[in-house]
Amino acid sequence: MRALRTAEFRVSAPVDHEAAKAFCVYHIHRRGNLSTAEGYIGVTSRSLGRRFRRHTVNTNPILADALRQHSDIDVRQLMVGSDDTCFEMEQLLRPADNIGWNLCTGGGIAPASSKGSVGQRTRQRISESGLGWKRSAENKQRLLSYRLGSKLSLEQRAAIVLRNTGSRRTEATKQLMAEKARSRPRTACPHCGKSVQNHLYIRFHGSNCKTIKKDKSC
Ligand SMILES: [Zn+2]
Repeated sequence: MRALRTAEFRVSAPVDHEAAKAFCVYHIHRRGNLSTAEGYIGVTSRSLGRRFRRHTVNTNPILADALRQHSDIDVRQLMVGSDDTCFEMEQLLRPADNIGWNLCTGGGIAPASSKGSVGQRTRQRISESGLGWKRSAENKQRLLSYRLGSKLSLEQRAAIVLRNTGSRRTEATKQLMAEKARSRPRTACPHCGKSVQNHLYIRFHGSNCKTIKKDKSC
């Protein structure tokens, strides 16, 4: 499996972002494992407690399984900011599908509706994760034997360590990415007047703008 490198962030003291009418990026993780490459990353405008309780009722099967299996689950705030900044951060932390306990790429693009049915990709993920069945001892032995005898040389190890160390983006690349991000098309919301990127517009503005949906709870 391809190892995806995601950004790591220092976390400041939690802020009551709900009171501040801001968004926050949160991380559901096992106690003691603060790696943002693992666990679940999400964005919410609600308090973490309330958002977390929603996860225990209605959530993706991978996260649901993790919540069932582990009793040492914590939720922490990674950052607080505007919807734009938070979703950009989510996208940075979840640049592709199937990282940690997330099924979908971050960035506020709502997953394809799958009311009453499980999507193809989710099915595959569930089947790959082996939920609901255990490998036989035989099967385990066989899987183990694939790795036996293929010891990595020191050079190979060093090469792997080197590959995974340090920044992979040059300043020029970062500049280019920032410029690109700034030049993405934006749409102005007729309800709140904000000008946002299209995926955020679809999810949070237009007919979904929070200025016209004050009493909807989710
Ligand atoms: Zn709006």
